Amino acid sequence: ELMFDVEKIRKDFPILHREVNGKPLIYFDNAATSQTPQQVIDCIVDYYSRYNANIHRGVHTLSQEATNAYEEARIKVQQHFNAAKPYEIIMTSGTTDSINLVANGFSAILTKGDEILVSALEHHSNIVPWQMLCEQTGAILKVIPMFESGQLDMETYTSLLNERTKLVFCNHVSNALGVINPIAFIIEKAHEVGAAVLIDGAQASPHIKADVQALDVDFYVTSAHKICGPTGVGVLYGKEEWLLKLPPYKGGGEMIDQVTFEKTTYAGLPHKFEAGTPNICGVIAFGAALDYMNNIGFETIAAYENELLHYATEKLLAVGDVTIYGTGKKVSVISFNIDNIHPYDIGTIVDKLGIAVRTGHHCAQPIMDFYKIPGTVRASFSFYNTKKEIDTFIEAIKKAKMMLS
Ligand code: PMP
Repeated sequence: ELMFDVEKIRKDFPILHREVNGKPLIYFDNAATSQTPQQVIDCIVDYYSRYNANIHRGVHTLSQEATNAYEEARIKVQQHFNAAKPYEIIMTSGTTDSINLVANGFSAILTKGDEILVSALEHHSNIVPWQMLCEQTGAILKVIPMFESGQLDMETYTSLLNERTKLVFCNHVSNALGVINPIAFIIEKAHEVGAAVLIDGAQASPHIKADVQALDVDFYVTSAHKICGPTGVGVLYGKEEWLLKLPPYKGGGEMIDQVTFEKTTYAGLPHKFEAGTPNICGVIAFGAALDYMNNIGFETIAAYENELLHYATEKLLAVGDVTIYGTGKKVSVISFNIDNIHPYDIGTIVDKLGIAVRTGHHCAQPIMDFYKIPGTVRASFSFYNTKKEIDTFIEAIKKAKMMLS
């Protein structure tokens, strides 16, 4: 048994003490968005109560305080992901925004016949921008196939790589299945043919601390709201050489060096990619969220969540007629169906019992098509969940199964 005081942790999360439909909330939709600890809420209140001001502009005290806090948060993100330089960290509005920034930049680099590889396990936000990019540039999108197990087919991947491959995109962890992808191998092989790699870390970030230098990844993106931070904030890590090559994504204030009506020159990194007033408070709160999680420690978090995963998997399979999608190395996500029952119906019944799970295609329709299912029920656990909550969930699933079969 792991030394982990979950009851103490739970005290940090006010939302965990509310009721839903007359029952204590059991929040198992952490893969969609995580909950927010009091420390992060306090940080947000403190910002708006004491030093709300625009950054990088004013000489006045409030503006300087806000600018310092914003830049300190960037350094926290840099240190968290072990980026070599603070200006390799671009603050965005989220994973989707980060991916679109890179896709937009590559529209100036790719030419007809270039190839982009994307994994079969992608979230729509990591498919659609590349399709748009291919339409614009005449580049060709190819898919790294998956097996029934939810693992990517690395042999086919290797055979798809060639000198026309310019980009490879893959998530670190699949949001629909929770499977951890072999990204170190993917990056290494892509680099052998000179292709750049973007890793979507949105689902990995709550569980795994990625080291971008050790991975030698070209781009790594994630959202703050998956890691106990606020919504509307995310990050793009990019290697300096790539960020210098890519043209800016949005024009506006903050991203310029000199502006005349004849010609505008752009500011250096990271400002070139941060046009307009950013989500100042959100970025500062993102820093507070990383502090909070690092204080507990990602190894501790992952070990505890892994215990929850195995506990829940065993109990769920014992219910009978259950199919779990995605096996092998996983984070604490269970994507499942019960024979002949629509996932939506299960979600509705367990909600009546105060339990939040996600049902549907999880923004990954190609995976559902692969399994020939309309969707799944996805229960995703965080370090503030408990085995007792899992017991209640299993009872609710048994009840739903009885009512629906
Ligand atoms: N990629 C993955 C793997 C995700 O899980 C998500 C969020 N569900 C996204 C991208 C999109 O993140 P956001 O909505 O915060 O931009």
